[in-house]
Amino acid sequence: MFDSLSDRLGAIFEGLRGKGALEEKDVNEALREVRVALLEADVALPVAKDFIAKVKERAVGAEVLRSVTPGQQVVKIVHDALVDMLGGEEAESGLSFATTPPAVIMMVGLQGSGKTTSTAKIALRLQKREKKKVLMASLDTRRPAAQEQLAILGEQADVKTLPIIAGQSPRDIANRAIEAGKLGGYDVVMLDTAGRLSIDEQLMTEIADIHLATKPIETLLVVDALTGQDAVTTAEKFKERVSVTGVVMTRIDGDARGGAALSMRAVTGAPIKFVGVGEKLDALEGFEPKRMAGRILGMGDIVSLVEKASEEMDAAQAEKAAKRMAKGEFDMNDLADQFKQMRKMGGMGAILGMLPGMGKMKKMVDQAGGLDDKEVIHQEAIISSMTKAERKKPALMNAKRKKRVAAGSGTSVQEVNKLLKAHRQMADMMKKMGKGGMKGLAAQMAG
Ligand code: GDP
Repeated sequence: MFDSLSDRLGAIFEGLRGKGALEEKDVNEALREVRVALLEADVALPVAKDFIAKVKERAVGAEVLRSVTPGQQVVKIVHDALVDMLGGEEAESGLSFATTPPAVIMMVGLQGSGKTTSTAKIALRLQKREKKKVLMASLDTRRPAAQEQLAILGEQADVKTLPIIAGQSPRDIANRAIEAGKLGGYDVVMLDTAGRLSIDEQLMTEIADIHLATKPIETLLVVDALTGQDAVTTAEKFKERVSVTGVVMTRIDGDARGGAALSMRAVTGAPIKFVGVGEKLDALEGFEPKRMAGRILGMGDIVSLVEKASEEMDAAQAEKAAKRMAKGEFDMNDLADQFKQMRKMGGMGAILGMLPGMGKMKKMVDQAGGLDDKEVIHQEAIISSMTKAERKKPALMNAKRKKRVAAGSGTSVQEVNKLLKAHRQMADMMKKMGKGGMKGLAAQMAG
């Protein structure tokens, strides 16, 4: 199976944990693996080389810190270099509106890249978060129903779209949109241009022509992250003909090729401004190099988790989860989910320490003997060796079953017992937290 960059780097640094000092041999070994991982994750060769050189420079010169493990130190250095390459600490993720309204935002990209969806997502975001009055117009007169598609998305997002007049040219539609924008007092006019399956001269001429006529303050190129290196090539081609001011990278949710983000910034020079993280209209995030680096590395990021929790944890969902937990229905599958999540977020200690209300749980886990990250992997192995029925009802675990599970997971009966105990305590705590606790937690996150 294809390893994602984050899985890959995670595995490399696993081996560095617990070593007393950062030896050059380790650094070299890690960097060799980082390089392979980067190439596999579709980072362009020159970009990967440049990256490795930067990391090596920093790693060799770095003094060994006492407070962190060598593995953590390497992770930190790789992380910082990733942040630099993705655009530095100060991301230019905002859009510019410094013009007489309406500010024109032109969306360009290949067909299927997610251009129309991204147009509606950005319009919704500007309307909701920045209180801008937005008008959208589709200039795609070639693909049947393209204009209707945007109108439907507009309805879903509650964003106005320019009424469709059959037979108009893209230039005419663009002029009409800007005129309507002026008359209607709109802050922003978003132009969704036509796409093609591949770049051709006619498309480029049309886009350059519209660009010249409408003078957009932002020209956003939409690329599909899943196409990896091709996305980077596409970006280079578009940049030759129109001055792209930013990139929207879609389908980051299927993140097998997160490396494209790295290449994109390095090869085109245009900042990534937004990332698409799903099909729904609110599945758009401002691009943050630090967050992206964390995601690529699998170090997790609390900001993203908390934001998501406050935005998406709607009342109904919270209620449902709370009811299950209040009834003590926190089974081994739930626990396995927690472990998976925690490992993604940078380990047990990190997540339990940072989440509001979770300090208590950490204490309980510590009392149950503690869980370091290696143990978490063992614990996950134990859970996956249990049968479906055992996972649903851990009380089924008798001596014979424990022996079988221990053998199956390459652990010991003691370890199986320890996990069962930890689960029992967590389930009890969940039960005690009950409905109020869960709601309280959601409220804390939202606040
Ligand atoms: P266009 O031809 O470039 O205008 O592409 P569309 O906007 O019609 O999008 C093509 C498909 O990709 C649609 O099914 C979208 O729902 C989907 N899509 C767009 N952005 C994302 C994203 O960020 N994540 C996922 N998973 N799907 C996306």
